[in-house]
Amino acid sequence: SVEPGSPYRVVLLGASGVGKTAFASIFAGAADSMDSDDCELCGDEVSEREIEVDGETATILLLDTWDAEKGDEWTQERFMQIGDAYLLLYSITDRASFRRASELRITLRRFRPARHTPIILVGNKCDLVRRREVSTSEARASAVVFDCKFIETSAAMQHNVWEAFHGIVRQLRLRRDSK
Ligand code: GDP
Repeated sequence: SVEPGSPYRVVLLGASGVGKTAFASIFAGAADSMDSDDCELCGDEVSEREIEVDGETATILLLDTWDAEKGDEWTQERFMQIGDAYLLLYSITDRASFRRASELRITLRRFRPARHTPIILVGNKCDLVRRREVSTSEARASAVVFDCKFIETSAAMQHNVWEAFHGIVRQLRLRRDSK
């Protein structure tokens, strides 16, 4: 069955270079990448796609904030407000990007104090084992503190990327069903 209503807005957050664009291209796949003119939200990279999770179709509108990192505060704040769910990316090879993810988590909490917004902490580039700077156990412990889920992925190997999107849809449905 198709879920009624508008698509889920999923926002990619994270330091530059962590793999947001790579995530967005895997997600977009063969689907149309919309022109920014088609999107009333923003002039940023956006793609919409239906995916099947647990036998049920979900529509996701994916927003890539790749230029918000270097952009103004207003742009960042807008992203903090419009998402139904967030993929909070860092690179396991870059400790600074992990610190950035914690900062973004704190900022998100400030903008979304009341509602429970699904967030997954995503440790990308897990194929680069020899360059690892952030251990799995440390990140998992942070996710507990952040009150969010955790997954390690490799966009380069296409490992666990869809699992991250499926996890987000499952959390959004849990929230929907508990309303
Ligand atoms: P963004 O700035 O967050 O959008 O990051 P990009 O998606 O542009 O990725 C930055 C660089 O890291 C690019 O050269 C990508 O090819 C590379 N990259 C992204 N994901 C992975 C990954 O999982 N493994 C490896 N080895 N490289 C990756």
